Amino acid sequence: MEAMLSMEALCRAFCCILFAMPLSLYNTFSKKETELHTIEPKTVRMYTCGPTVYGRPHIGNYSSFLMADLLRRWLEVSGYTVKHVKNITDVGHLLHDADHGDDKIQTQAEKEKIHPLDIAKRYTDQYLDDEKALNMLEPMARPRASAFIKEQLKIIKTLLKKGNAYETDDGIYFAVETFPQYGALSGNTLQNLNAGARVEVDERKKHPADFALWKKCIGDNGRHVLRWSYATGEVSHSSGEDASSGFPGWHIECSAMSQSLLGDQIDLHTGGEDNIFPHHECEIAQSEAATGKQFVRLWLHKRRIDLGDAKMSKSLGNILTIPDIIEKGYSPLDLRYYLLSVHYRTNLKFAWKGMDDARKARTKIVEWMAQCASSTRSDAEEANDAKDFIEQFADAMNADLNTPQALAAIFECMAWSRNQKSWSANNLQSLFSFIEQVKKTFGCFDSGPGPTSVPEDVQRLVDERDVARKKKDFAESDRLRDAIKERGFEVKDTSQGQSIRRSL
Ligand SMILES: [Zn+2]
Repeated sequence: MEAMLSMEALCRAFCCILFAMPLSLYNTFSKKETELHTIEPKTVRMYTCGPTVYGRPHIGNYSSFLMADLLRRWLEVSGYTVKHVKNITDVGHLLHDADHGDDKIQTQAEKEKIHPLDIAKRYTDQYLDDEKALNMLEPMARPRASAFIKEQLKIIKTLLKKGNAYETDDGIYFAVETFPQYGALSGNTLQNLNAGARVEVDERKKHPADFALWKKCIGDNGRHVLRWSYATGEVSHSSGEDASSGFPGWHIECSAMSQSLLGDQIDLHTGGEDNIFPHHECEIAQSEAATGKQFVRLWLHKRRIDLGDAKMSKSLGNILTIPDIIEKGYSPLDLRYYLLSVHYRTNLKFAWKGMDDARKARTKIVEWMAQCASSTRSDAEEANDAKDFIEQFADAMNADLNTPQALAAIFECMAWSRNQKSWSANNLQSLFSFIEQVKKTFGCFDSGPGPTSVPEDVQRLVDERDVARKKKDFAESDRLRDAIKERGFEVKDTSQGQSIRRSL
């Protein structure tokens, strides 16, 4: 291939990004777009709330993780080092995100009659398979909540000492009235919560909005299998009711894992919009009350996905998973494209028509990239025009990750490149830099449209056509091509034989 890119050429092209406008993101806390100014120059400390592993995560969960993955990729393309931590919640997340009631993992373990850690392992494995299929980058760390109990207890004990927490007969709670900024993220201030009766009254708590930091293994929680000694933080082997053992509340886990791995203050914290309240509101209260410092500079939340008229949610039973997508014949990368093609602050109404359009668009882009790779250069001296698209793409991404506009830059570059009659070295280098930038950022153009699962009857026709071609029986070969087309597939004859793909 003529068009090998030198590192200097790539660097020259990426300089356009460095001179482009700075990255602005919509900060849920300040309710406005804010320029990112990192604590440490050129390094971003970023925490993403990961899944609670009591079932296979659905594509609504993944849309939020994909937003974080896209942001991380864009930061790296823009020259930042990203210290990305993405946790796995394997204990303490109670049903309905509540303070009382059953632990989601404990409940699933009782249902499947296996140990809670086996439940966590099974669904963690499925989750990691899905992340790989969606081409998500591996974070710096994937801490499990159950491996950070001592760190959580340390914060809880600090909060008790400072008077921000108190003990009841069933646990330890954070006293929201000791933290006047409570509600600043979600708008659920104590005044609003009281007026709207948003929280249930519980006579054990000082204020109805107080939330659990630690649950003792008493009452219904005497069934809880995963438990630790409050005194030492070591695994407890007791069973049944035992007030000296317990397990953490969901919110304290993220505060502790973030603090342990990234420090008291971080630049970015991401999650789904469902996490804003109570989870992230409570994280702020605990972390800031314990350290006396601002916890997060910028909060980013992904809007939800609807399926039909309702929010996609496990508790509503209307979810789609990655295996559902594959079973319908799509690549998980088609889903990646679909979910990223809509701006992260827009509610997406999932539709199969949207998946079809995403597959078509992604296939076109991948094929265009492959054609570009075989372009040869002439001796003409022309300006490196594709650098305008590099800037256009960067400006879109820097404007609060405006992916629809970034994709528009790709399609405009495609049209421009098709009108090029010959390629100067400059033009070709800038085109390749643009493609590199797009691939690294979106993460769904590295492979073709597959995996196309070809049904048996179609494969048989393809095999028969292979025989006909070898015999140079072109009439039969054309007839088989039509028969394959009728079944919704297209064959192309290449130097390596036939290639097959689903018709667009
Ligand atoms: Zn979290």
